[in-house]
Amino acid sequence: EHQKYIRNFSIVAHIDHGKSTLADRILELTDTIDKHDMKSQVLDDMDLERERGITIRLNAVELKYHADDGHTYTFHLIDTPGHVDFSYEVSRSLAACEGAVLVVDASQGVQAQTLANVYLAIDDDLEIVPVINKIDLPSAQPEKVKSEIQDVIGLDTSDAVMASAKKGIGIKDLLEQIVHKIPAPSGNLRDPLKALIFDAKYDDYQGVVLSVRLYEGTVKPGDRIKLMNNGSEYNVVSVGVNSPHPIEKDYLMSGDVGYITASIKDIRTTRVGDTITCVDNPAEKELPGYREMKPMVYAGLYPTNNEDFGDLRDSLSKLQLNDSALEFEPETSQALGFGFRCGFLGMLHMDVVQERLERDFGMQLIITAPSVTYRVDTTDNKVISVQNPSEMPDVSTIKDVKEPFVKATIMTPNDYVGAVMRLCQHRRGQFETMEYLDKYRVNVIYDMPLSEIIYDFFDNLKSSTHGYASLDYQLEDYRASDLVKIDILLNGQKIDALSFISHRSFANSRSRVIVKKLKDLIPRKNFEIPIQAAIGSKIIARTNIKAYRKDVTGPLYGGDQTRKDKLLNKQKAGKKRMKAVGKVDVPQSAFMAILKTD
Ligand code: GDP
Ligand code: MG
Repeated sequence: EHQKYIRNFSIVAHIDHGKSTLADRILELTDTIDKHDMKSQVLDDMDLERERGITIRLNAVELKYHADDGHTYTFHLIDTPGHVDFSYEVSRSLAACEGAVLVVDASQGVQAQTLANVYLAIDDDLEIVPVINKIDLPSAQPEKVKSEIQDVIGLDTSDAVMASAKKGIGIKDLLEQIVHKIPAPSGNLRDPLKALIFDAKYDDYQGVVLSVRLYEGTVKPGDRIKLMNNGSEYNVVSVGVNSPHPIEKDYLMSGDVGYITASIKDIRTTRVGDTITCVDNPAEKELPGYREMKPMVYAGLYPTNNEDFGDLRDSLSKLQLNDSALEFEPETSQALGFGFRCGFLGMLHMDVVQERLERDFGMQLIITAPSVTYRVDTTDNKVISVQNPSEMPDVSTIKDVKEPFVKATIMTPNDYVGAVMRLCQHRRGQFETMEYLDKYRVNVIYDMPLSEIIYDFFDNLKSSTHGYASLDYQLEDYRASDLVKIDILLNGQKIDALSFISHRSFANSRSRVIVKKLKDLIPRKNFEIPIQAAIGSKIIARTNIKAYRKDVTGPLYGGDQTRKDKLLNKQKAGKKRMKAVGKVDVPQSAFMAILKTD
């Protein structure tokens, strides 16, 4: 039977442990990609992924493997991102698989996201094939890492694959283990169609392209399908697989991973996690969908040009198709005009959305500083959820303000426990517990305000542990904190998009830092611009931007025209990401300045 020779698996790992490189080697060894088309991390096909050297989006490819048992197997390999912001993508890929290849760096050992990702796979009952990678490194300690995986995770590692994705060692062994350890998909060809949508993207010609995993039945062009979530119906135009470029097929059947197009132009009907069935012979029940991901941080996105509001809405809808963790709804700012309040999983997610909007959709944006969601108990016994600091109600009507806390798990070598604890305490962390994983490594667990870790906590953690600590966190609950809203006034005018919320004990020091930063970032005018920070009507920090007297090229002496041109061009480029607020020009960088904590 067809299914007997199918294997669906994901590769999971902590970031940088070598998933994408391993995927490259697998594609090579199975001749899926011509040698001369091969570039490294070939599945990271977004420009952004290639530039940053990270995997952001999941990717599914079909490949053929001629196994030692003489049979040819069809593998569906799904590469996944490792960063904490994108764990959502990981759980989506796992839902389409029977097995997971767990990659662990032989010099680094088990890290925070190794655990987080492998637990997702274990929760989904996937068969796990451990791979110890980078055994070529002089600092590799494969035996130690093997026993670590066994001790910490509880996986049998006696025949773990010893690999170097870089040097191409162990790849054949891995492919054989995939054949023998990972079960073939089950499911019946004759049952009503059940296909899980695990990804989607918009194509101008084909409409929505759905990435699907078939659990039951078959699907072919001409079939009338139904999206079970909202009942919308379509005629299938084409089906196929990615290998890694799309290849059309006559049909897909249960066990397959591929794509379906059906001239779906209304993107709102498509939801990742939904089940597709056939209208003629419909399934009774949907497949279990996904855990809904809740955004952790919110920020305002505004077109630099007000006329682009409609374009921005279209672009966000298209982006949301294959980034279902992205949320957005319209909002208005006195300072910035019409825009959207958008929800993100974290700062990296926010960066990626912003960059994709700018590159793929040609938008020019101002993005405001991200904020967590606060819950306010009011004196008239209402609970208000505040995603935008400027919407914090008046102090006189507030009973208390609660903020989200996360359980942060920091895995660190013994030597850095002190440094980690100091950092967490400085960020208002509440110590929970400490677990020794082995003689050298500790899990330090803190309850921390989400607002204190979303921005630069990870960078600080890395630098205070020489890069050795890793972080994972999960939303825990909402807790009351002594929080205040701070407004920023430019030229006497309150700028709503610059308001922020701070713990009272940091309010003065942060405000002083921020007004000073703004002073450096906001361009001078021919009048003096006062910058003030205020709690209610009380000014807590202030400074002035002096008026300029000469023209901008003034400071350059002599007639060096090229230098003058350079300066003027630089100013022009800077203008693009600038918003005129009253008589003052506020650059993009100013909106982020309020994140600077020290
Ligand atoms: P991912 O984040 O898990 O997808 O990791 P990548 O595949 O992007 O690899 C991260 C870095 O590790 C890259 O610089 C790779 O060249 C390097 N790398 C991957 N596998 C090996 C290996 O087996 N040996 C060595 N020495 N480096 C490797
Ligand atoms: Mg990668």
